Amino acid sequence: MLDVLVCGAGPAGATVSALLSNGGMNVAVVDPMVGTTERLELVAPSTTRLFDAVGLGSLLRDPDLVRFCSGIRRDWGAKVSVEEFLSHRGGAGYAIDRRRLDRVLREVSRKAGARFICGRIVAVEREHSMFRARVRRDGLNITVFARTVVDASGRAAALARRLGARRVLHEALLACRKEAVPTDTRGRLLVESHSAGWSYRLEGPEGRCEAWEVGSKADLRGSRGQVVDASSVLCFPSAGPGWAAIGDAAASFDPLCSQGIANALSTALAIAGAVVSNAGLGEPAARAYSEAVRRTFENAEHGRRLTYSTLPDRGHRYSTELTPSAPPS
Ligand SMILES: Cc1cc2nc3c(=O)[nH]c(=O)nc-3n(C[C@H](O)[C@H](O)[C@H](O)COP(=O)(O)OP(=O)(O)OC[C@H]3O[C@@H](n4cnc5c(N)ncnc54)[C@H](O)[C@@H]3O)c2cc1C
Repeated sequence: MLDVLVCGAGPAGATVSALLSNGGMNVAVVDPMVGTTERLELVAPSTTRLFDAVGLGSLLRDPDLVRFCSGIRRDWGAKVSVEEFLSHRGGAGYAIDRRRLDRVLREVSRKAGARFICGRIVAVEREHSMFRARVRRDGLNITVFARTVVDASGRAAALARRLGARRVLHEALLACRKEAVPTDTRGRLLVESHSAGWSYRLEGPEGRCEAWEVGSKADLRGSRGQVVDASSVLCFPSAGPGWAAIGDAAASFDPLCSQGIANALSTALAIAGAVVSNAGLGEPAARAYSEAVRRTFENAEHGRRLTYSTLPDRGHRYSTELTPSAPPS
């Protein structure tokens, strides 16, 4: 029997499995390993400390993986502003190549001792003090038993939903890849609002450049290019005795927040700490974690609503009140 079964080998799953393996646990990670996240993403200055905290700070010095990003230029509503990262704690931001990051993190996890199973978890249930999961691999079903299960399956929240959690949708959004027109960004992330949502443009390693447009399904109707889910969603509760959702499976943020990688690393760190502790991932740790995830998400939601409320054509749709935070019923 495994100590921990991890569902998904994105940044959250690969990081938690490395931390748990380093903590002496017998860990397996299940992922179909089909398709990769081909995207440049911003590692904001506050996130760089999390790379240090999980022992991966050196990745941010690898020019094949990252490109220095000096700040954000926002052309938002009636206002143009520039935020220089040098004035932040942490001081530097980076555009990171997600495909390479995922590959490196999986390698780190393998080296730490985690076992990788190429497949998809299609069922999970509690059986006395352990969990029984069904893994679909090459058309066959394999049964795996584990004391603890960690859902790092991204927006699918494949295990958490099966264990009774609810995905609470705050706003349905899509992101559509656009053709990136060369412009002088001066090493900054460019963010621009328009009547149908907003868009951003980022330069990564080897001079690669990407642009994405974010909006509702109606806003992006007729847009061409790869379309991905970018909704703002909270999974509640995000943990229970013996199980936890981490990364996007716990809370998925609007790309406007640039918070996904930070959330993947911080939730991996928190859950690895709880699992290896003497008390383990029992009811009190699960409740405290779930509440921390919910509050982090609601803070980000408040900031997001404040930003959207300044949009000329659609700002009125967003309440700027800090809504009292009671757990979803
Ligand atoms: C357009 C866009 C732009 C973004 N930009 C930024 C940014 O600039 N900065 C930032 O910090 N964040 C950004 N994000 C968010 C970031 O991409 C995510 O937060 C991050 O990918 C979350 O990592 P994860 O490991 O939780 O999930 P994922 O990366 O989604 O990984 C989930 C893994 O689980 C696997 N899986 C799914 N179901 C199963 C199953 N049943 N069994 C086994 N495996 C399964 C999948 O194959 C996948 O490998 C952006 C998101 C979008 C959509």
